[in-house]
Amino acid sequence: MICYEPYTCAFCPARYKTRTDLQEHRKMHRGFYPFRCELCIKKFLFQDQLKTHMEREHDERETINQNVVAEILDIVQLNAC
Ligand SMILES: [Zn+2]
Ligand SMILES: [Zn+2]
Repeated sequence: MICYEPYTCAFCPARYKTRTDLQEHRKMHRGFYPFRCELCIKKFLFQDQLKTHMEREHDERETINQNVVAEILDIVQLNAC
């Protein structure tokens, strides 16, 4: 007899025979985010979210920060005149 467990957890590979069991299991996923950013404290449920976060918050932020610093220097120089 094949043991068939049709209820699969969306967040991990766990499988259950009944929906109730799955619902019980899913409670433990509340606040559980398997993907963590190494550069800040943010956590994500899905790898895509982490990837998007890395691209938006870190790669681009470095560039933006450099631009902001350049602008601030310009302003300071203008004020000094
Ligand atoms: Zn799970
Ligand atoms: Zn981050």
